[in-house]
Amino acid sequence: MANSYDIMVIGAGPGGYVTAIRAAQLGFKTAIVEREHLGGICLNWGCIPTKALLRSAEVYHYATHAKDYGLVLEGSIRPDPAGVVTRSRSVAKQLNTGVGFLMKKNKIDVIWGEATLDAPGKVTVGKSRKVPMEPALPAPKGVLGEGSYEAKHIIIATGARPRLLPGIEPDGKLIWTYFEAMVPPSIPKSMLVVGSGAIGIEFASFYRDMGAEVTVVELLPQILPVEDAEIAAHARKRFEKAGMKILTGAKVTKVEKGANAVTAHIEDAKGAQLTITAERLISAVGVVGNIENLGLEKLGVKTDRGCIAIDGLGRTSVGGIYAIGDVAGPPMLAHKAEHEGVICVEAIKGLEVHPMDKLKIPGCTYCQPQIASVGLTEAKAKEEGFELKVGRFPFIGNGKAIALGEPEGLVKTIFDAKTGKLLGAHMVGAEVTELIQGFVIAMNLETTEEELIHSVFPHPTLSETMHESVLDAFGRVIHT
Ligand code: FAD
Repeated sequence: MANSYDIMVIGAGPGGYVTAIRAAQLGFKTAIVEREHLGGICLNWGCIPTKALLRSAEVYHYATHAKDYGLVLEGSIRPDPAGVVTRSRSVAKQLNTGVGFLMKKNKIDVIWGEATLDAPGKVTVGKSRKVPMEPALPAPKGVLGEGSYEAKHIIIATGARPRLLPGIEPDGKLIWTYFEAMVPPSIPKSMLVVGSGAIGIEFASFYRDMGAEVTVVELLPQILPVEDAEIAAHARKRFEKAGMKILTGAKVTKVEKGANAVTAHIEDAKGAQLTITAERLISAVGVVGNIENLGLEKLGVKTDRGCIAIDGLGRTSVGGIYAIGDVAGPPMLAHKAEHEGVICVEAIKGLEVHPMDKLKIPGCTYCQPQIASVGLTEAKAKEEGFELKVGRFPFIGNGKAIALGEPEGLVKTIFDAKTGKLLGAHMVGAEVTELIQGFVIAMNLETTEEELIHSVFPHPTLSETMHESVLDAFGRVIHT
């Protein structure tokens, strides 16, 4: 039957499109439904365009510090917000087009519209009810349209959207979410960022580097709440040195809007009341799963705290219906979404798979300085009753870091003292988001200090800080 598939994926974000490709590779007749943009939030409004913005901020930073590298830059240099945004949008568009190409190459039918589940195995695709974010991209060519479809297995990969706090509802003008923050018409003189998770901190870092006065307000006692406390404290010092103001343990109680500014009433950690006025406010207090209007209640698909409840293979409470990615719960990261999708279709195929192990999913924040981690924090490892050996190595002891002009940073490694097993690794400093994968592989191989100590790290590289941190945990550090 023309409208019938083995696997139908709903949502073409990184979770959905990677799942569809793997399904096609495994010989399944596959379709993917998308209502707005191939590549989802990640490629269009998340991971990729933010990294393009942050790259512009980084280049600007180096240009303004050219003298430190023995270079003379004559004339003035300043950010051109339109140019920065145009570059970021064109990077997003290029990757969005690339997903279309990958769908064609893998003979995956793309169905354009909004999907609703009528029953297990039955999907209706109708007109999208969502107002697309501008600049919106046209529907790709050669897609299938609205109608009724059938599939043996339906994989929901509908992603997430910004969580909204009552009283701080985005208005697109003064109060922004990541959507508006991604395409600023100009760089505001002052910016208040509410929430200091990865999204909030990346925007805080971008706007600060582009010249805005930035204040970050975080309800919890530390910024980057999921990170190791020592790494978060190091990052905080660096942000403050760069001129960012940070309030932790502080709560925004009310926001008043003026003609071209917002005034936030804040209760600080000691209970004192203060007000901060800024030209724009970015609400970055997390995301919630897109579980609405899918027909889940009717089908009895269980949800849990705003996301679809799944097991380690992506199975929901209803046979033949699966969920992966942001809509299936934290950590809400693109690589988690992709991996979850691959596990899900491989399990459907009957292959032997390892269920998702969330402890081994790395987390990266691409601010200045970068932060990256995998596994248990020191506090969590202690809470779990491990006896620990903890290693630390500062970037100042690394030749490459000094040559790069990036002498500030820290690598922290956490081992089970009894077995030598690597439990967690945490890093802050230049390029650590490119380094963390070494520790991810080590954890996946259930590495102990033995293998890490005997591994040879190339010189001069920042990766030597990883080796030294391990050596430090076992009393053998060389360069401090
Ligand atoms: P999504 O990417 O959200 O895709 C879901 C898709 O489903 C969308 O295209 C949507 O249009 C479609 N859809 C929804 N409902 C329907 C329906 N009923 N019918 C048809 N289509 C539907 N993660 C990282 O790993 N690294 C980063 O650096 C990073 N940076 C980020 C920066 C920002 C500003 C943001 C907001 C997020 C960032 N993330 C990052 C998170 C990352 O974007 C998400 O984890 C990832 O996009 C989740 O992928 P997904 O496939 O589950 O969902």
